[in-house]
Amino acid sequence: MIQLYIPLNFLGVIYREIKQSMADMERLFSLLEQNKEIADAENATPLQTRGAEIAFSHVDFGYESNRQILHDVDFTIAAGTTTAVVGHSGSGKSTLSRLLFRFYDVNAGSIMIDGQDIRTVSQQSLRQAIGIVPQDTVLFNDTIEYNIAYGRPGAQRSDIVAAAKSAYIHDFIESLPNGYDTMVGERGLKLSGGEKQRVAIARTLLKQPAILIFDEATSALDTHAEQAIQSQLKEIARDRTTLVIAHRLSTIVDAAQILVLEHGRIIERGTHVQLLAANGTYASMWRHQIQQRVAEEALAAEPDLLDT
Ligand code: ADP
Ligand code: MG
Repeated sequence: MIQLYIPLNFLGVIYREIKQSMADMERLFSLLEQNKEIADAENATPLQTRGAEIAFSHVDFGYESNRQILHDVDFTIAAGTTTAVVGHSGSGKSTLSRLLFRFYDVNAGSIMIDGQDIRTVSQQSLRQAIGIVPQDTVLFNDTIEYNIAYGRPGAQRSDIVAAAKSAYIHDFIESLPNGYDTMVGERGLKLSGGEKQRVAIARTLLKQPAILIFDEATSALDTHAEQAIQSQLKEIARDRTTLVIAHRLSTIVDAAQILVLEHGRIIERGTHVQLLAANGTYASMWRHQIQQRVAEEALAAEPDLLDT
């Protein structure tokens, strides 16, 4: 039996939303308020993916009618390639992933996957095609095995273990009193942000969706764990259409395309090399992060500096 840590009387309404969604708890209640209009079109058809090309076409969006968040956002992610989005907190990066998942409908423009407007396909098929590692992962009050497997019902224990190993969470799970049968979530064992993020990564590795979204997917991990997992993420992203929202720019230097978002507008786009050459916002963000890293490394080498 699946148990969620929200009041029972909400279950009927949002059970499907939660089960299929990347929602974090703080958003769930606003979803209840705002998402009544998101429903399958009467003649909705299942999404047919080929290479899973994603096209945002002149998208305008606001959560509230009096405050527009995204302005004329227009970009294409070619099938099987990676596009990275960078920008300051609040610039609208996560909003892009929520729109692609169709938590909300755009106010103007459209989002197409392989030529199909996502408003015309069934939500079930859309969400089946997308794997997301969000900033904050919601765990179900169920076993850790269930939490990893739920992206792919009927998965074998051996596949689950393999995914957990790739996400560097297997040893931690084995150290728990009941291993993979340990209950987690609000009413079970509470996991740290980094552990939850690794569960979400394992879940996504297992699901093997056509489209991947990493929304600051490793932000809760320390640098060492992040570097270890980064290569796994790169591996799974190969040949899949991927949207990476990055907080550490070093993880996206290979992206086919980088978009710089500012106040909901794309202000720069190109490859890492092109954007450095353009010497604009991206280039200054890059220099800033290099300086930060040098400072961190100096501190790590000489912790006494902290005392002065
Ligand atoms: P980022 O991921 O770049 O930090 P977000 O896409 O989460 O930014 O948010 C963009 C803007 O939208 C912010 O100003 C944020 O406050 C606002 N916002 C995000 N979620 C909601 C919501 N559910 N309701 C109203 N405003 C929201
Ligand atoms: Mg965000």
